[in-house]
Amino acid sequence: YNDADNSISYTTMAKFPPVKLLPNADRKRILVTGGAGFVGSHLVDRLMLLGHEVTVLDNFFTGARTTVSHWVGHPNFEMVRHDVVNPFLIEVDQIYHLACPASPPHYQYNAVKTIKTSFMGTLNMLGLAKRVKARFLITSTSEVYGDPEVHPQTEEYWGHVNPIGIRACYDEGKRVAETLTYGYQRQDGVDVRVARIFNTFGPRMNPYDGRVVSNFIIQALKGEDMTVYGDGTQTRSFQYVHDLVDGLILLMNGPETRPVNIGSSHEFTIKEFAEHVKEIVAKVQKEEGTYKKTAEIIYKDLPQDDPQRRRADTTRAEETLGWKSRWTVADGVEEMVRYYSAKMRAGEI
Ligand code: NAD
Ligand code: UDP
Ligand code: UDP
Repeated sequence: YNDADNSISYTTMAKFPPVKLLPNADRKRILVTGGAGFVGSHLVDRLMLLGHEVTVLDNFFTGARTTVSHWVGHPNFEMVRHDVVNPFLIEVDQIYHLACPASPPHYQYNAVKTIKTSFMGTLNMLGLAKRVKARFLITSTSEVYGDPEVHPQTEEYWGHVNPIGIRACYDEGKRVAETLTYGYQRQDGVDVRVARIFNTFGPRMNPYDGRVVSNFIIQALKGEDMTVYGDGTQTRSFQYVHDLVDGLILLMNGPETRPVNIGSSHEFTIKEFAEHVKEIVAKVQKEEGTYKKTAEIIYKDLPQDDPQRRRADTTRAEETLGWKSRWTVADGVEEMVRYYSAKMRAGEI
């Protein structure tokens, strides 16, 4: 490693994962807001390994320092505790703006704060992008399509969102964040990218954040009842986090400035998904010798405004970014089961 300014030695670098040694001209200064969260931490890993300088900005509301602690002390890495609703000054080349709680119980916990984070946080990061002429990417969501009347969802669809329901703080927050993003593009020439992310799962998801994948895996691992909301006929398509990270980096560095769906096109009913998780957990536990009993599926009330169907149409991502999913749901779930199982045996969850 050659860093004359910091005199970094090989010994110092040996304790970190092996980052690529990029010449100064190729090494970008990248800000990742929400970088201590589930998706953010995986994105940070990839950007670090690629050899870039990464600054994580996070208020640790739903994220944790531990998700990126393996980089602390690396000369290319910096972590700042900051809330995006307040202005922030830094000089960077690219901004990945992820900061926003994503799980329904988390974003509904303080709905007004969620709206402030989406609106004021995105305004500040766009103001920053404008000032320093950085390229700006926002992680929007399939929730902008609401409870969709078009299936599967293409980027052309304008959505079907209840503006005053319990999910509105998140859905409308992201919709206005997209509006702001294209406002800054039109008025100020900010170079923008918009990713509409569909349900994503993987290691480092907060095990108790209430989303379906983490709930089902934890419940099945503990042999507790698996809670299907409603009759379980509602559908979702689940993508593994590494596929999402591929898509985000391709989008940031490619020419497409329209919104791009990034997600899986493999659609499950929630009941089928519960069965799928149950089987994989039993298989892994039998291999590990930790199998006790199989969990039972039980039914609970369906939350208000829960979308009935959701599946990503990813034609645009495939055609304009050359993106393609590399992970099957089964392989992803298995990795995540092993990850949570190891954490449970270590007494960490
Ligand atoms: P997460 O809750 O794990 O991560 C969000 C991160 O943002 C956390 O580290 C949190 O502490 C931080 N944060 C929240 N409010 C903040 C604020 N005001 N200031 C600074 N930091 C703040 O969620 P995630 O699943 O990693 O989601 C990341 C992004 O991707 C979000 O923008 C989310 O809307 C989007 N997204 C995720 C999914 C998914 O399935 N995971 C789907 C669609 C969109
Ligand atoms: N902003 C920021 N960092 C910067 C530049 C701007 O946080 O480096 C914030 C700024 O405080 C403002 C928002 O971004 O609240 C929008 O900035 P812009 O310059 O577009 O608007 P104005 O300051 O004129 O309202
Ligand atoms: N869900 C469920 N059991 C749970 C958690 C969620 O049946 O323990 C359902 C939820 O009602 C929704 C789907 O699974 O229909 C996906 O929920 P999640 O909160 O993961 O994401 P989102 O609703 O935002 O897609």
